[in-house]
Amino acid sequence: MSEPSIFTRILNGEIPAEVLGETERVFAIRDIAPQAPVHLLVIPKTAEYRDVAEIAAGDPTLLAEMVSFAKELAAQHTDDGDYRLVFNSGPNAGQTVFHVHAHVLGGGLNEKSVG
Ligand code: 5GP
Repeated sequence: MSEPSIFTRILNGEIPAEVLGETERVFAIRDIAPQAPVHLLVIPKTAEYRDVAEIAAGDPTLLAEMVSFAKELAAQHTDDGDYRLVFNSGPNAGQTVFHVHAHVLGGGLNEKSVG
């Protein structure tokens, strides 16, 4: 077995983080190094999928739940409800945690940049 991911350790209470919301299968926290005024992470409780392509193939319903949860969080945490959803896939694209997660960015994005 590989080491538990940092997100599994947060879920298990081994690393402190405020859980902003959760369902039976997903949970959300603030990113520790925010890249936007609002920067949240939506994470499935299972660590079985490394990236968005794996979860899309293995459990599309769970991916859809992540996307729906991201919208709810953005509505709660931004004034306008607008947000950018980012999935980094692979180390050369900036992925550092190989337990799939969606970045929810909002609260005043004024660039078209995708990076
Ligand atoms: P990735 O780079 O894999 O797309 O995203 C991983 C994200 O997890 C990064 O934006 C990073 O700042 C965040 N992160 C890493 N460790 C922790 C932690 O211990 N707590 C929280 N809240 N976020 C973390």
